[in-house]
Amino acid sequence: MRRLLICAGLALLCCGLPAAAQGDSAKIKVVASFSILGDLVRNVGGDRVEVAALVGRNKDAHAFEPSPADSQRVAGARLVVVNGLGFEGWLDRLVRASGGQVPVVVASAGIRPRAGPVDETRFHQDRAGADPHAWQSIANVRRYVANIRDALTKVDPAGKGAYAANAGAYLTKLDALEREIKGALARIPADRRRTITSHDAFGYFADAYAVEFLAPEGLSTDAEPSALAVARIIRRIRSEKIPALFLENTVDPRLLQQIARETGARIGGKLYSDALTGPDGPAPTYLDMMRHNAQELAKALGG
Ligand code: ZN
Repeated sequence: MRRLLICAGLALLCCGLPAAAQGDSAKIKVVASFSILGDLVRNVGGDRVEVAALVGRNKDAHAFEPSPADSQRVAGARLVVVNGLGFEGWLDRLVRASGGQVPVVVASAGIRPRAGPVDETRFHQDRAGADPHAWQSIANVRRYVANIRDALTKVDPAGKGAYAANAGAYLTKLDALEREIKGALARIPADRRRTITSHDAFGYFADAYAVEFLAPEGLSTDAEPSALAVARIIRRIRSEKIPALFLENTVDPRLLQQIARETGARIGGKLYSDALTGPDGPAPTYLDMMRHNAQELAKALGG
């Protein structure tokens, strides 16, 4: 009897392990560099794909350090989807470490990159020159979706119809969301369309939806803001009566909390730029994230 039980246990182990380790082998394995791209790939790929994100929810892609498990994940994928524009500085090394055989698609290809900040209120020049946070404009994400659709079709031609249909349905949702965001932000008076975030992640959002963002940290989070940068922000909050500051889920909140205390400006809440939240948070998907950000801005700046 005992031997029978042991055999049954071994059989379970044998059947259970490979399935857990390999996932559903019928699906196309796709690795996305960060959570927002993972969500876009999931929407376009539907149930034909199995998506893993290297930089997870609520995690900072700027500070990411890939592990050996990540290079195995890349090596086992049929497609790797990245943002590009210098966002994934760690990518080349990771792809090399994984054997370099997996096709890599740049989701932002074809968008018009925004130059790094040049005006004197923004303090850190991006080393690569371009602002990578292009997904903060829905117009750009339409291009991301088309690029992801085309890349999936290339590695899985049998899914062409499904990918086209999924992408089409998602683009319709993006159109509706863009109308909704413009409507929400239209309520903010012209002299209050200005706010502070931790790092310079909302340049494309600013250009698309006419809200100005200032930040003590630059396009990346890898450098401490200088005392001069912080002093300038404080001066502008006072002189321009900027009503509210916003924290980010991927950046330490303490600096902004200190600036708020010093200026008497309010913390308006949290905006999400570089990472989604978990399922219980306010930004579990890209659509939720953009809607949440617009609503929070309208609430805090609306007057
Ligand atoms: Zn960022």
